[in-house]
This record gives sequence, C-alpha cells and structure tokens, in this order.
Amino acid sequence: MNSVRRTKIIGTVGPATESLEVLEQLILSGLDVVRINMSHATDQQVRNTVERVRKLSLKHERHIALLMDLQGPAIRTGDLPSALDLNPGERIALTVRGEQSEEEHSVDVNYDDLIEDIHVGNVVMVDNGTIQLKVIEKQQNHLTCEVLTEGVLGSRRHINLPGIRVNLPALTEKDIRNVMLGIELGVDFIAMSFVREAKDVVMLQELLSQHHASQKIIAKLEDQEGVRNTEAIADVADGIMVARGDLGIECPYEELPIIQRRIVKTCLTKGIPVIVATHMLESMIGNALPTRAEITDVSNAVFEQADAIMLSGETSVGQYPNQCVEVMNRIAQRVERSGGADYAKLAKLDSLEAKLVKGASVMAREVEAKALIVFTRTGRMARYAAWMRTLHTRVYAFTNNRDVVNRLALYWGVRPFLIDFVEENPIENVEQAIILLKDKGLVEQGNYIIAITQVTHKGKWIDSIQVEKVD
Ligand code: PEP
Repeated sequence: MNSVRRTKIIGTVGPATESLEVLEQLILSGLDVVRINMSHATDQQVRNTVERVRKLSLKHERHIALLMDLQGPAIRTGDLPSALDLNPGERIALTVRGEQSEEEHSVDVNYDDLIEDIHVGNVVMVDNGTIQLKVIEKQQNHLTCEVLTEGVLGSRRHINLPGIRVNLPALTEKDIRNVMLGIELGVDFIAMSFVREAKDVVMLQELLSQHHASQKIIAKLEDQEGVRNTEAIADVADGIMVARGDLGIECPYEELPIIQRRIVKTCLTKGIPVIVATHMLESMIGNALPTRAEITDVSNAVFEQADAIMLSGETSVGQYPNQCVEVMNRIAQRVERSGGADYAKLAKLDSLEAKLVKGASVMAREVEAKALIVFTRTGRMARYAAWMRTLHTRVYAFTNNRDVVNRLALYWGVRPFLIDFVEENPIENVEQAIILLKDKGLVEQGNYIIAITQVTHKGKWIDSIQVEKVD
C-alpha cells in the first residue's frame, strides 16, 4: 500500500473485528495499529489477536503495531443477571464489599472506598456519563442514589467520580497479570490507563525492566490530575494518549478541545508520539457515514498533526469497522495535503542526533527530495524523523531489529522496513534501502533522496547527511 497518509490509524479489536477475515480487511484499508482493550479482552482473545495480526502482517508485508491497553484503576459496576432499566426519580443502591441491598435496583461496585470518597449530593457518572446518579444517602457499604437520567445499566459499566482522587493503585493486580501476558506475546506498546503522575509510569517501567522487556509505554491522560501533570508525565512516558472518553466526563467538556491542543503541543515540543482517541466516528457504530461534526473532529486532530487517531467502539462493536478506517484514511490524506498546524516548530531538540535529523529534513525540502531515509536500531532516529513533521518529503525508516520495526508503525509519517544491516559499511545500507524503495515504486530514477548515515574518517564513525540521486 503506497498511500501518502502520514497520520496513523489505530483500531480497537472486539467482537466485530476479531476474525482473521475482518482484521485482514482493516489492515488492507490502512489500519496501522491494533489496540486490544484489556477491560474486555480475555487472555485467549489476546493470544488469538496477536497471532492473527502477526500472520497478516507477514502475508501483506505491512508492519502493524500491537497496543495492549490496560484497564487501570477503573471503577466498575459488577455483573448483573439482567440489564436494569433505569428511569428518572427511581432509586438504585450502589453497594461495596459484597453487601446485599433491599432496594429493587442494586448493583455492586468494585471500589471499596466508594462510600468514604463520595458525599451526599455528588453525582456518580455511569457508562460514559449516559446514566447519572445523585447520592441521596450514605450507609456503611451502601449508597442510595436517585436516577437523574434514563438509561439501561448493563454489567461491568465504567464509573467516573469527577474531581475525586480515587484511592486505587496505578497498576492493579489484573494490570500486572496483563502486562506479563503482553511481554510473553511481544506486544509493541502498553497503554497505561488513568496515569495521574509521572511516578505511575515509572512503576510500569520498573516492572518491564525487571522482566527485561522492551515494550514502550503510552500514558493515557484521562482525568484532571493527569492533565495537570502532562509535562512531567510526557518527560518519562514513550507516548501520550488524549483519552477523551474519560476526559470528557472528568473535566468540564468545554475544556476538552483546549486540553487536547495543549497535550498535542506538549508532545510535539518534547518529541514523543501522541494519540487522539475516542468518539472520533462514534455515530458510525450504527451508520455507514460519519456526521459533519465527526469529519471536522478527525480533521482537527490530523491538522494538529497528532501521530495517530483512534477508533474504539467503532471497530470493536460497530457495524461498519472497515468503513471507519476508510473514512479516517480519506479525511487524513485530504487534510494533510492542505497543511498542518506545525507545532513541531516548538520542538526543543534534545540531542545532536535530533538536530541532525532536523538538518536532513530542511535539506530534503530544499532539494525537493522524494524520500528521507533513516537507519535505526532502537527506533530513536525514526522517532526524530517523525517529530520534524516533514509534510514535504516521505520518511522511510530501516531497522534490523524485529522488536522495533512494528513499533514504528505508530510514528507520524514513518514507513518502516526490516533489513539486515551491513555493519562494516553503512553506505551499503543506503544502497540497499534505495534499491528496496525503487522496487516498491516509492522512488524512481532521477529522484533525490536524503539519507542519514555514518561514514568513517581516520578510523572514527561520523554521522552524516547524504544527498543521493536515484540511478
Ligand atoms: C478513553 O477514555 O478515551 C479511553 C481511550 O479509555 P478507555 O476506552 O480504555 O476507557
């Protein structure tokens, strides 16, 4: 697939998409990253998805990244024998520690400190705020609430307590078990939910390093505390997700566009990937076409030059998963042609290599190069190349590292390739890369190519920028 889209597309797998056939369609339509939502997936489903994605990746010679999204310290209602039909004015009991209630409607909640943390008059937001419950009475292990908004309460629904600091560990026991599975299966990214401060991320980093694991961490910002600590979190995380589903409930909704823009800018200042997530094409769960507002929302994230835009329910349970990827693909390609916000101009280049990549990007524009190519063992040079947001030239990253190549699928504008490096003569790597790009029809005779490589001089390796003309 030689599309010219730079913004990457993430799709969440679920009942609508877990089959090999549907996954294949999504990948052929342009999906770059497969997200597995650990709030719903069983271990066996994770194993199946990883195996299928890797198989399809090989079959279609596309490097697809796998992102395991941990449930995190989420408060949830328990299992119900059947869904509850709730109407305004009715009562419902929220119970903890296995307490049984006499109320007609009652549901258990997995957060033992709920009663202590909440006050009479507070509103509990259930299932993305679709069901709102006002606390009218507190007892030990038991809250009596009045239903404010009509809704059907199913099993294991997410609860938000806006502005309340929930006393749950950043990594739950379930998360730790899931991380172990992610390491075993070699997923590329682990997304950590409800990151509130930098030390939450450090905790996961320590767990990964204890197991010599190389997974990269995406910190999901989804509440007021996380947003306040964006800078510090972005300093330690490998990427950030603007998790707008929870953010839209935890923060006043009119703040949401401002928060999104600030987070994107922060990531582009620091040079780490940023994902804009949730409700991007929500109406397409049941409709084949997006609303005008959704088209504009997707365009906005593309214009802001987020690395990736994400589909959740649209692909996991929706009726039109493939169309959703196609819609994002079309919007992204069109908006990218019209330009971008260029927040990368705020970049605080933190290393000599980053400055070298910037130099190469400027050079690529000056000579109207068809390709900017980088070689990377750890993925760092590819991340830098993405950071420059070179709208004018395509970026190709070559690595000899199987653990790295799929990960590069998330980075803005980067198309990854796996090759063997000729260690003793890096110029041969450039030649090899150009032949490969020519074979794939990505460059042709007469095109200029900018390559960042190394040359030897007096026995020393020196980084260099080279201009090559395709023979
Ligand atoms: C979100 O809240 O936007 C999000 C991506 O988190 P989750 O879907 O895991 O609740």
